[in-house]
Amino acid sequence: MNMGTLRDLQYALQEKIEELRQRDALIDELELELDQKDELIQKLQNELDKYRSVIKPATQQVVKQTELHEHQRTKRQAISAEPTAINIQDLSHVRLPFYPKSPQSKDLIKDSILDNDFMKNLELSQIQEIVDCMYPVEYGKDSCIIKEGDVGSLVYVMEDGRVEVTKDSVKLCTMGPGKVFGELAILYNCTRTATIKTLTNVKLWAIDRQCFQTIMMRTGLIKHTEYMEFLKSVPTFHELPEEILSKLADVLEEVNVTREDKSNGDPVYLRSMGKGDWFGEKALQGEDIRTANVIAAETVTCLVIDRDSFKHLIGGLEEVSSKGCEDAEVKARIIPSQVVQLDSRYEAENSFFSNISLVDFNIIDTLGVGGFGRVELVQLKSDEVKTFAMKILKKRHIVDTRQQEHIRSEKLIMQEAHSDFIVRLYRTFKDSKYLYMLMEACLGGELWTILRDRGSFEDSTTRFYTACVVEAFAYLHSKGIIYRDLKPENLILDHRGYAKLVDFGFAKKIGFGKKTWTFCGTPEYVAPEIILNKGHDISADYWSLGILMFELLTGSPPFSGPDPMKTYNIILRGIDMIEFPKKITKNAANLIKKLCRDNPSERLGNLKNGVKDIQKHKWFEGFNWEGLRKGTLTPPIIPNVISPMDTSNFDNFPEDKEDPPPDDNSGWDNNF
Ligand code: ATP
Ligand code: MG
Repeated sequence: MNMGTLRDLQYALQEKIEELRQRDALIDELELELDQKDELIQKLQNELDKYRSVIKPATQQVVKQTELHEHQRTKRQAISAEPTAINIQDLSHVRLPFYPKSPQSKDLIKDSILDNDFMKNLELSQIQEIVDCMYPVEYGKDSCIIKEGDVGSLVYVMEDGRVEVTKDSVKLCTMGPGKVFGELAILYNCTRTATIKTLTNVKLWAIDRQCFQTIMMRTGLIKHTEYMEFLKSVPTFHELPEEILSKLADVLEEVNVTREDKSNGDPVYLRSMGKGDWFGEKALQGEDIRTANVIAAETVTCLVIDRDSFKHLIGGLEEVSSKGCEDAEVKARIIPSQVVQLDSRYEAENSFFSNISLVDFNIIDTLGVGGFGRVELVQLKSDEVKTFAMKILKKRHIVDTRQQEHIRSEKLIMQEAHSDFIVRLYRTFKDSKYLYMLMEACLGGELWTILRDRGSFEDSTTRFYTACVVEAFAYLHSKGIIYRDLKPENLILDHRGYAKLVDFGFAKKIGFGKKTWTFCGTPEYVAPEIILNKGHDISADYWSLGILMFELLTGSPPFSGPDPMKTYNIILRGIDMIEFPKKITKNAANLIKKLCRDNPSERLGNLKNGVKDIQKHKWFEGFNWEGLRKGTLTPPIIPNVISPMDTSNFDNFPEDKEDPPPDDNSGWDNNF
């Protein structure tokens, strides 16, 4: 009987296996179908986007309404905080206001913060300081705490009462005690995205941006200064250049060691160590097995660095002493001859441009409209095939948004930048109302437009444009400049199809081993350390490079929410929470993840070998870097540019309503 049942069972098992196999096949088939449908949707969406941009000027009203309900690709506006009012050096001495409160209130504020998607990412010590700094605010029934569209600078925690949240007069929800609201305003100067009205009497706690940012900034700064001083006191390290010490300080982790109760065997006493001593260095050289016990004699605080970080930042221990001089030698050998060549080339150019004035140009057409004004294609009246892009910035707008410093540095940095992967700025002009920047015209159009029309790019196409950005970054970073606003909107193609960086509004010369704190960038591309106000450096650019790769490969950036605050919260959850679509190859995904490490000191591009690590990554295997630099590599997309006056690769822009340019050229000239 057993034999019979066994055979029956085996047969049944076979049947089940076959059934499963068929199901798997069906799933595969359906998945394929789904992929195809997705592709079709994407294609139709692109078509729709194309039509929309064409009809937009005529039917702005209608388009605006549909925009609310559907996802449509629109250009993203960069944001920038005002420069911090506090002097970084003074930061540790700034006395923050202290408001005593009951233990219950303290707990409520702390719990509310830990329950908030953004604020819960802060360090406990920071939360503690925020709790101490918050001051009480009360509102009666039916008052308005936050009004949509107003500029705000306070974030609130509700202790008592109930409020109603509305957006565009539509009720969204009500909130009770223990809720945080208004978070975006503590990151930077911005308008409120919703209205909050009280339904009852309400008790709140509030903190302003200045106070919040002081807390955020100084936590990191104080620790960094402390670690730097400590590292300099360690004999093995004190020869290292400041820049490397600063990076070391970034990766150090603090651990507390307490004495163990019993030790096994009879350890032989060797020596005792104290503050500034260091141990365990054999592990940095690759030895896994410890040769001695180090036992805490009392509670001890150690700073710890792991082998990988050390190797990536410095290399071997032997290099510690030789580092620094070697790099300087290489630079000294290469640079002089190149500089001479470049200088003579640019001298002629300089003298040509210093002899022309605004009246020497005609406007041909608008190339783009940005946050600060328009970019026009202009031609020299005396030599009409010589065309340029003229960026025209409204002075009043610059002053209103307190961007003077940014514009000044945009001009300085662009004028000094002589790279084939950065748009050239020849010279600037100004009159009472405007600033003008005369740039090389790149007539292949924006990468953003091409991406919109195509939906996404293939692996090899993405590789080419990413490589262009890598070259631009390598150039800028070698001069101690960070770019901070990478996105397809800021990459334009020249007539050959090579991509160049444009828009240096947020670029800044910070030097080496230094950080900066002003919040700026475009929400989807902002690195986590910028959101958390930890100070950032060139590694923030490498983060954005990972985001760009993802967006070019798929058509949308990895971290994206319905509003900036939601986007930031998604960014803070990290790249590992993001599902990578199948069309991102394994090598591409690997590079993106290495660029988008939460910890800036672990990011590819910011390690010991710098940008070379990116160029040598598997995804770039076989890529012709030399050909790219020389301009002999054929670009993946060759734009159709029939003349230096051809603006057909740019979208049509309606005329500036506020300041209509006179329609004859002589009139426009009078504007200067
Ligand atoms: P935002 O800060 O909103 O990005 P902006 O006012 O700083 O904008 P830019 O980004 O510098 O302006 O320029 C706006 C657009 O004008 C670009 O996206 C691009 O389409 C076009 N443009 C700018 N410079 C050039 C150029 N040299 N050649 C061709 N087109 C250009
Ligand atoms: Mg721009």
